[in-house]
This record gives sequence, C-alpha cells and structure tokens, in this order.
Amino acid sequence: MVIPFTNYRGVVAVGLLFGLLKTIQCHNPRIKSYCRWPNPVYAGMFAAGIFNSLFCMYHEILYYIYMKYQLFTIMCMCQHVALLTVYFKLLLTDPEACTSSSVDEDTGRAHSILDVAEGKVSTSDYCQQCEIVKPRYAHHCRLCNCCFHEMDHHCLLLNKCVGRGTQRLFVLFLLICAVNMVTFVMLSTWYLYTEFSIFIVDARDIVVAIFNYYVFVWTMLLGNAVSLGWCMGMLMTQMWMISNGYLIATMSNAHTKLTYRQCINNLIAFALGNRVERNAYEAWPGKPYGIAPV
Ligand SMILES: [Zn+2]
Ligand SMILES: [Zn+2]
Repeated sequence: MVIPFTNYRGVVAVGLLFGLLKTIQCHNPRIKSYCRWPNPVYAGMFAAGIFNSLFCMYHEILYYIYMKYQLFTIMCMCQHVALLTVYFKLLLTDPEACTSSSVDEDTGRAHSILDVAEGKVSTSDYCQQCEIVKPRYAHHCRLCNCCFHEMDHHCLLLNKCVGRGTQRLFVLFLLICAVNMVTFVMLSTWYLYTEFSIFIVDARDIVVAIFNYYVFVWTMLLGNAVSLGWCMGMLMTQMWMISNGYLIATMSNAHTKLTYRQCINNLIAFALGNRVERNAYEAWPGKPYGIAPV
C-alpha cells in the first residue's frame, strides 16, 4: 500500500524545529556578555520540553499503553509526579546566597575591606559587587549578581545557580529526568512501531506516515532522545566533580588530587547529605571578577 501525502504537518514541524535551534543560537552571546541579563530563553525551552513531553504522553501514548500494561502505566505516572515535584522544589529552593563576609578564625569577627587593604585577605577573595569577603568555596555569579556558598554553576535551564543548598536536589533531578526520558523514548518508539506495523509495508510509507500522522510524537521523541544524551553527560560530569571534590565555578584553580578512596567517600557523603571533602584551590590569582565561569 502506498500512502499519499495528505498534509504538511511534518514539514511545518521540521521548519519550526530549525527555527527553535536558530533562536537558541541567537541567544548564545548573552551568556558571554557582561550585561547581567537573566536569560529566560533556555529555561523556557526546558520547561516547554517537560510539559510538552507530558502532554504528548497523556494525549497520545499512555492510554494506548494502559490497555496492555496497567501496572507499568501507574509506574510512569509516579515518575511524572516525582519529576514535577523535584522540578518545582528546585526552582523554589535557595542555592544559599552569601549575605555576609567570612569570619576570621582567630578573632571571631567578620572580615572587612580593611583586612583586604592590610593584606590579611587576598584581593581576589573580595567581591566588589556584593561588597563582602567571600567565604571559602563561595563564588560570585554575574547572571544572578550574587555570591553563593559552594557555587557549582549557573544553570541556564533553571535560570538560577546550583550551589550548596541545591546541588543534591539538582543531581536527583538529573537522575529523575534521565529515567523519564528513557521511558519516553522507549514508549514512543514502541507506540510508533506498533502503529506502523499495522498498515505499512515499505520504507517510503514509514516516512510519509510519520510526516502525516505522528508529528507530535516523533518531534517529542527526537527532543527527548537528544536531551537524554545531554542529561547523561551532565549526570556523569556531576558524579566525577563531586567524587573529586570539585566545583565547576572554581575547578580550574584546583590543584590537589584526591585518592580513589577519598573519591568513593565523597560520593557516599554526598548521597547521605554529609560534607564533601573539597579539593583545595587558590582563589583566582590575578584574575578580575567576572572572568571566571559563571
Ligand atoms: Zn558577589
Ligand atoms: Zn547564577
């Protein structure tokens, strides 16, 4: 059976997909500029990805799955609840902003700019924007315009920093995202395959059928497959950073190498919510603030 083209939904979807990629690319320079604009484009794209994937799942796929595998459907729904719960919690949790200077261990008083002038504190430890002497491992984010304790990085997809207060939640979120993406890719592929196998005989029919009837499903499948690659990469990077006691914002100055045993201990401590042994580093020698990674 040869299926004719009956509409241009697929062509429009491909056009929009390229339009989206072009828009994202156009906003790249904002990351490198010093304008300190928050950049909601990536955060909006990410939120749209989550809600469109869920809509696609409930509108097109899940009912189909429910007919055959009820228990599996309930498991999927639990995953969605977990995803949304952790996502909103992450958006609402403070990454722990630094509001006061570090404390002198000998005298017990907070450092001031006088300590910087007298050379007791390194000039690179003073944040000109927040006007505080940064505690150890704190870093200034020029996009949030604020210093954060143990800042890891500024997450463009959440439009906020990942710091001491949110890093565990962030890793949990990545984990839940990865599980949800794997489930989506598996179920949508199975759904498309089952649908096609009913009436399609040759390869041309598959292409035409995709363009005619399953535009929403295959575009979301594509989006989730690409996002899964990013998510797994990010998860692996986070695991490696945490085990080695690094923070992305300050890691280029780290100079010690932790032992294998210390790395394992760090992962366990992180999972249990205990203190991670940080890799010692020098604070930005000779570099003005704002040059460091955001
Ligand atoms: Zn600051
Ligand atoms: Zn930030």
